[in-house]
Amino acid sequence: MAEPTQTASTTNTPSSFGYCAWHQAHCRGVRLIRVHEQGSGPGGGLFACRPCRESFDLVPFADQPMPGAGVDAT
Ligand SMILES: [Zn+2]
Repeated sequence: MAEPTQTASTTNTPSSFGYCAWHQAHCRGVRLIRVHEQGSGPGGGLFACRPCRESFDLVPFADQPMPGAGVDAT
C-alpha cells in the first residue's frame, strides 16, 4: 500500500514561535511554508507568520496538496 502517513495534527499549534523569513524577524504563530531539500547543509525550512502568509498568499506546507495529487488537474 502506498498510503502516506498523515502527521497534520503535530503542527496545528497556533502560537508557535519562530523566525519569519518574509519580514525577517522572530514572530509568534509562524507556520512552515517551504522545506529545503537536504543535500548540502543542515536542511530546514522557511517559516512565515500569519500577516505575511496573508500578504504574500502563502500556503503552509502542511496545507499544500501532495505532489502528484491535483497537479495535472486544471
Ligand atoms: Zn512575517
